[in-house]
Amino acid sequence: MKVLTTIQQVRDFVQAARARQLSVGLVPTMGNLHEGHYSLIRAAAKECGCVVVSVFVNPTQFGPNEDYATYPRTPEQDLAGCQAGGAAAVFMPSVEEMYPRGQTLATVSIASLGDNLCGASRSGHFTGVCTVVSKLFNIVRCDKAFFGMKDFQQLTIIRRMVDDLNFPIEIVPCPTVREPDGLAMSSRNSKLSKEDRAQAPALHASLELAREMILEGVRDSRAIIEAIAAKIAAQAPGGAIDYVKVVHPDTLKDVQVPDGPVLVALAVRFQGARLIDNILVDAAAKAS
Ligand code: AMP
Repeated sequence: MKVLTTIQQVRDFVQAARARQLSVGLVPTMGNLHEGHYSLIRAAAKECGCVVVSVFVNPTQFGPNEDYATYPRTPEQDLAGCQAGGAAAVFMPSVEEMYPRGQTLATVSIASLGDNLCGASRSGHFTGVCTVVSKLFNIVRCDKAFFGMKDFQQLTIIRRMVDDLNFPIEIVPCPTVREPDGLAMSSRNSKLSKEDRAQAPALHASLELAREMILEGVRDSRAIIEAIAAKIAAQAPGGAIDYVKVVHPDTLKDVQVPDGPVLVALAVRFQGARLIDNILVDAAAKAS
């Protein structure tokens, strides 16, 4: 496995892979890799002859009061995991390599898909994401790129960006990997206190409650949201709800009456970390 730090090294590496007729898969990450990331790498290794994992904590997707400085960075451990997962190369650029002039003047932004959910409380976040992912797509020029459904809004936005801007890349969604107690794996979980970590599985449990309600025929999003909020208040008092939403999985717009496929999504702030999670439910598939 090659460790690449410059854009030119990536271009040369991918060109050599292409000369060997290998298809190229990209797994963009911010490092501190866990089983969720490794599932993406394994999926990429199944579908592509050459897998490139990028490890880059992208400053432009963090707001001024967010956790850029304290985001967990574990490069040695990440390299070992990438190798075990079947990556052919890891791209670990410096901030200067990615942004040699400081902020880029050219950015990629997305309209309405970025307004709801995390976009509502993280101003500029998805412009940072779309810009860095566009840069990675242009650097690696992969055939396929693999994204987790844990960050469902990000996945939806990247799919739309690729479609609207004609990137010749297939976006492959990968299911959320969870801890045995249901908590979605996240690099930020390690920043939770012991008490908050013990409470955090309430997020997934409340989403499962929402699923049951919808499948049992509840057609009032407000009632579903209130039930989620009540469960979180009872089981995770250390968390403050940022949002709980029932939205359409394609438009990400609020749905008042869930009667087809919906995404139930939430974000909760604990002292050490803001956590997100979601589930897809098809309201039309009523419980028998
Ligand atoms: P991050 O390093 O948090 O930016 O995540 C990099 C990629 O891994 C994104 O596509 C995430 O959606 C994905 N990812 C993060 N956590 C998980 C998880 N628990 N299960 C599946 N994919 C994940």
